[in-house]
Amino acid sequence: MNKEKSKIFFDKAKKMMPGGVNSPVRAFISVNDNPFFVKRAKGAYIYDVDGNSYLDYVASWGAIILGHADSGLIKEVIDALENGTSFGACHPNEIELAKLITEAFPSIELLRLTSSGTEATMSAIRLARGYTGKNGVIKFRGCYHGHVDSLLVKAGSGLATFGVPDSKGVPYDLAKHTHIAEFNHIDSVMRIVEKNKDIACVIVEPIMGNVGVVLPESNFLEDLEVLCRNAGIMIIFDEVITGFRVAFGGAQHIYNIDPDITCMGKIIGGGFPIGLYGGKQKIMECVSPLGDVYQAGTLSGNPVAVRAGIYVINYLKNNLHIYDNIADYGIKLKKAVCDIARDCGVPYVVNNITGMFTGFFSDNPVNDYDSAMSSNRKLYEKFFKIMIEEGLSFAPSPFEASFITLSHGNDELLKTIDAYERMFKRLQ
Ligand SMILES: *Cc1c(COP(=O)(O)O)cnc(C)c1O
Repeated sequence: MNKEKSKIFFDKAKKMMPGGVNSPVRAFISVNDNPFFVKRAKGAYIYDVDGNSYLDYVASWGAIILGHADSGLIKEVIDALENGTSFGACHPNEIELAKLITEAFPSIELLRLTSSGTEATMSAIRLARGYTGKNGVIKFRGCYHGHVDSLLVKAGSGLATFGVPDSKGVPYDLAKHTHIAEFNHIDSVMRIVEKNKDIACVIVEPIMGNVGVVLPESNFLEDLEVLCRNAGIMIIFDEVITGFRVAFGGAQHIYNIDPDITCMGKIIGGGFPIGLYGGKQKIMECVSPLGDVYQAGTLSGNPVAVRAGIYVINYLKNNLHIYDNIADYGIKLKKAVCDIARDCGVPYVVNNITGMFTGFFSDNPVNDYDSAMSSNRKLYEKFFKIMIEEGLSFAPSPFEASFITLSHGNDELLKTIDAYERMFKRLQ
């Protein structure tokens, strides 16, 4: 496989941007490889500057659900562009997008658009603190909510200890307000709540996507909701990945939870920069200009991103069966892959829901942060490199979700299963 042009671009990029990239995981460091440089993408495929094509399971980290460069979407966007790229002022389509989202998510009565998922979670935390007058935040180890200062924190050794920043540049004085609990272990949340009276909110990815896919075990989210209600703690669902991905109404629809605030991003912009946070009216009324929690954005409600979001959500709304089609693809893929892995004697676990899945090289079920982390990274690196040679693009890290789009059809399914078969045989 020729990757010469990508290599030349990467060398140039490294002279211009830290690590040659604008977001760290793109550098392919966890798989000891060099990134390919993309020329274009269409449907289920992405094409690099050397002329290689890859069946794409990254799907812009889940932002793409219709498939790349969907022709209907492109038409809408071109029309939007011709009417201006940014107004910095109110426009009717903001109402249209808000309407589609509040209809799909009954827990959201009022919402605010932002330009990224990070802005959405950052603002949701500020709002929870402003609303409750408390400072503490509980997050789960391994849940990623964007690069928000208070959320770039992981645990010290003891569960009840204060958070320690995960990144330099995050003040200890801020990190100390973040408490780390364990996903799928409700007792870890209980211990924090018992010891701390200053907790404003819990923020959670209802389905973990950023250590690879880890599903909530039965009752975990329900127990979390009850615990929060009883303790007067707000519950924030980070549905930046799962919103419109796992079901039209997101993970909260599947698990029947009524969060106080929900954050979204990715799919709702159809591949354009967007985010949102929203929730109950009396909470959202605390946001400026109605209330005293300040939050703003020059490009928030950008007309092109909003028009793209409207198109995608309308498409999903009018074709709800696509969630079954995507789920069916996922189930078939999981079954085939697990059968082949077993025949080849390679320990492999697939976690999946609707259009998101992760294969872990692991002997044991993966149901929390520790079990995800104990999967075999060396084998993932080999898997990744073989799949690239096979013409399939997976995330360049073992701890990410893979995504199925509407453009992944039967040919793609068969191609993927064939590639897995050859890959497992080589790993045997
Ligand atoms: C991607 C992601 C974010 C951050 O969104 P950006 O648009 O990258 O800022 C937040 N939360 C979750 C769960 C994500 O996957």
